[in-house]
Amino acid sequence: MLELRAITAGYDRRTPVVRDVSLSVEPGEAVGLLGPSGCGKSTLARVAALLHRPDSGTVLLDGEPVHRWRHRAPRAHRTAFGVVFQQPRLSVDPRLRLTDLMAEPLRATGRRNEIPDRVAELATAVGLTPDLLTRRPHEVSDGQLQRACLARALVLRPRWLICDEITAMLDASTSAALVAAVEDYRAETGAGLLAVGHDHALLNRWCGRLVRWDDLGPAA
Ligand code: ADP
Ligand code: ADP
Repeated sequence: MLELRAITAGYDRRTPVVRDVSLSVEPGEAVGLLGPSGCGKSTLARVAALLHRPDSGTVLLDGEPVHRWRHRAPRAHRTAFGVVFQQPRLSVDPRLRLTDLMAEPLRATGRRNEIPDRVAELATAVGLTPDLLTRRPHEVSDGQLQRACLARALVLRPRWLICDEITAMLDASTSAALVAAVEDYRAETGAGLLAVGHDHALLNRWCGRLVRWDDLGPAA
């Protein structure tokens, strides 16, 4: 289970953007977190993915506290999460070919021998044709780049997926393809999902449980 307990977080301790928020995701569960732009969803998603340290509160992974780190969460904890963000161009090294971008987490964890098979497998799973894999980010569309970012998030087979407005920049058919690829992965692995967004219809179709930002808080 992924548990966020009484999380307060922000970018300056005097004015936190997330105040005393609690939320948990059961293994295999898909939770959609809905809220207006600017309310703090991305910040909470980054806390959940161990990319942003909360000012106070507890993050637990299967009962183990994992929020106590200074500069960076330990890799053993980080690799439990695959994270996809709203704007793919902001989360990639623009010099990397898509194939290298997708393989980054394997390279970083010393598992180079797995790269060819895993990249081929994921290219199929996310709907990228082989000719696209040798292109660089500026040579592909936002949707194609987001598919590669999803592949990168899945490459280490994480137990949790954090999707932060991943379809906000995309057309309906690309959005549907990305959601389908996430759901195929979850069906295969039983991974849990926290999907953050503002599109009620999309999250409602996608997630088994919807949570509204305003309903989170001390009692939720
Ligand atoms: P949402 O995802 O719901 O749109 P965010 O978590 O992105 O909300 O933002 C919540 C608040 O935190 C906003 O007021 C935003 O301007 C501020 N914020 C977000 N990221 C940063 C940052 N890196 N530095 C300072 N303030 C930030
Ligand atoms: P480092 O060797 O610096 O510890 P990391 O293990 O954090 O590197 O990851 C290497 C690269 O892989 C990063 O640049 C990041 O973009 C990407 N990456 C790692 N883990 C994930 C993930 N869970 N979701 C998306 N991208 C990831």
